[in-house]
Amino acid sequence: MEHALYGAVLIGWTAAAVAAFLFLLRTSAPYGRHTRAGWGPLIGKRWGWFLQELPAPLVMALLFALGDRQGNRVAWVWLALWELHYLHRVFVYPLRLRGGTAKMPLAIVGSAIAFNVINGYLQGRYLFTLGPLPPTSWLGDPRFLGGLLLFVSGMLLNLDSDNRLFALRRGDAADPYPTPHGGAFALVTSPNYLGELIEWIGWALLTNAPAAAAFALWTAANLVPRALAHHRFYRARDPSYPPRRKAIIPFVL
Ligand code: NDP
Repeated sequence: MEHALYGAVLIGWTAAAVAAFLFLLRTSAPYGRHTRAGWGPLIGKRWGWFLQELPAPLVMALLFALGDRQGNRVAWVWLALWELHYLHRVFVYPLRLRGGTAKMPLAIVGSAIAFNVINGYLQGRYLFTLGPLPPTSWLGDPRFLGGLLLFVSGMLLNLDSDNRLFALRRGDAADPYPTPHGGAFALVTSPNYLGELIEWIGWALLTNAPAAAAFALWTAANLVPRALAHHRFYRARDPSYPPRRKAIIPFVL
C-alpha cells in the first residue's frame, strides 16, 4: 500500500519540479535581492533559514530511526552525508548571514518547510525502508565513489562561494551587492548554486535512488532560474560586469 502511495507522490513531485522551473523562470522567489512587497508578513532571515531548513535533518533522522536499516553500514553513510549538509545549513549558515535584505516572507519559509518535509520523506523512506537493502560492497562501487566525489566537491564549492559572498559584507561598504570576484566567480555568477547542484547530482549517484534524482531535478528547477535572475541583476547595474562570466554553467549558461 505504501509502495503505491510513495510511487504516486514521487511522480507528482517530479512533475511539480518541471512546473516550478517554468514558474520560476518568470517569477523570482521573493527573498534576498529579489524581495518585494505583496508577499505577506515577513520574518528575520536568520530565523527564516533556521526554521525552513530544520525539517530536513529531523525528518531524515526520524525515518532512519523508524526504518529497518540501523544495522546497515551504507544506510549510516547516507544518513551521515545528509546530516553533514543540513546541520551546517540549519545551525551554521543562518548565523553567518549579515546585512543586505534583513527579512524574508513567511510564505517562502512555509513553502520551504513543506518542501523539506516532502523531500525528506521521499529520500528517507526509500533509503531506510522501501528501497532495496544495500550491500556493504556498494561503498566500493564506482557509482558510489563518483557520487561521493561530486557530493564533497560540490559542497566545498558551495561553501567557498558563500564564504566569498559573506566576506563582501565584512566592511561597511554602502553597496550590499558589490560584484563578487575570485574562486569560481571567475567563471559563473552563482558558483554557490553550481556547487549545490553538483552536490545533489552526487547524492543521486551515491544513493542510486529515484527520489534523489528528483531532488537534483528540483535543485536545478530552483537554482537555474535564480542564477539567471542574479546574472541579469549584476549585468543591469554594472556595465563592466565580466562579459565572459556565465550565470551557472561555466562556458555554457
Ligand atoms: P545568494 O547567492 O542569493 O546569497 C547568498 C548569501 O550571500 C546571502 O546572504 C546574500 O545576502 C549574500 N550575497 C549575495 N550576493 C552578494 C553580494 N554581491 N555581496 C554581498 N553579499 C551577497 O543565495 P541564496 O540566498 O539564494 O541561497 C543561500 C544558500 O542556500 C546557497 O548556498 C544555495 O546554494 C542554497 N540553496 C539551495 C537550494 C536548493 O534547492 N537545494 C535552494 C535555495 C538555496 P541577501 O540574502 O541579503 O541577498
